[in-house]
Amino acid sequence: MEKARTVLITGASRGIGAAIAGRLARAGYDILLNYHSSHEAAALVQKEIESCGRNCTLLPFDVGDEAQVEKTLSTIIEHNVPYALVHNAGVTRDTLAAMMSRSDWDTVINVHLTAFFLLTRLMVKVMLPKREGRIIAVASVSGETGQAGQMNYSAAKAGLIGACKALARETAKRNILVNVVSPGLIETEMIAGLPIEKLLPAIPLGRIGRSEEVAGIVNFLLSDEATYITGQVIGVNGGLYM
Ligand code: NAP
Repeated sequence: MEKARTVLITGASRGIGAAIAGRLARAGYDILLNYHSSHEAAALVQKEIESCGRNCTLLPFDVGDEAQVEKTLSTIIEHNVPYALVHNAGVTRDTLAAMMSRSDWDTVINVHLTAFFLLTRLMVKVMLPKREGRIIAVASVSGETGQAGQMNYSAAKAGLIGACKALARETAKRNILVNVVSPGLIETEMIAGLPIEKLLPAIPLGRIGRSEEVAGIVNFLLSDEATYITGQVIGVNGGLYM
């Protein structure tokens, strides 16, 4: 029997990441499941994955911390080179630019953008000799349009888009495809507290999206049907930005 492909997903204890992990497990992938500190939630996702007959290794670490990233991943990925990385971990520290603290800025840039650099630097080294691989960054409509109150988050997500396009050009010859999935408003804890009713008129499809709708696109981009797609930003936003 052929060995299952392994995917490393960051921020997969909850929300969109947990849905991606579940979707990919059902498609036959083993999962390296990163999260920060929600141990109980991560254990539930692990249980779901194992109930599909797939392996799931829990890897709690801070994706923005260089030492933790290197210590946790370097040995694991050398022994079992993942087929794909999905960098989905995210936080917000929303406030107007004039009120934004240095730590609001640094935290958001670290978790989204610097983490992507730290993770891909390791992953690409082991993927290149294999001449195959997929890398996906989960960005946001805020990184495409800019969003008031989110200068840090919009900058981090726009940065991810640029980083993915550069990396896609660098790695294409070795058959490593790099794309961005860019959600609009998706029903998770991240948007709890937003005035949803006020936001709905701006969404042509007239509703908030579901995590599974993002997970389906990630699954497609990792599949053998997506062999000619690289350097693209795929919006999953109900038409909020076109
Ligand atoms: P969520 O429900 O708040 O989940 C965030 C996930 O990221 C959790 O698993 C969390 O782990 C993890 N995480 C946070 N900081 C981390 C760190 N330093 N190291 C490792 N993991 C960390 O968020 P979500 O809505 O699913 O968002 C997932 C991604 O989609 C994010 O990149 C977000 O920016 C993007 N996005 C979301 C929306 C939306 O409307 N929801 C829209 C556009 C883009 P713990 O559980 O351990 O804290």
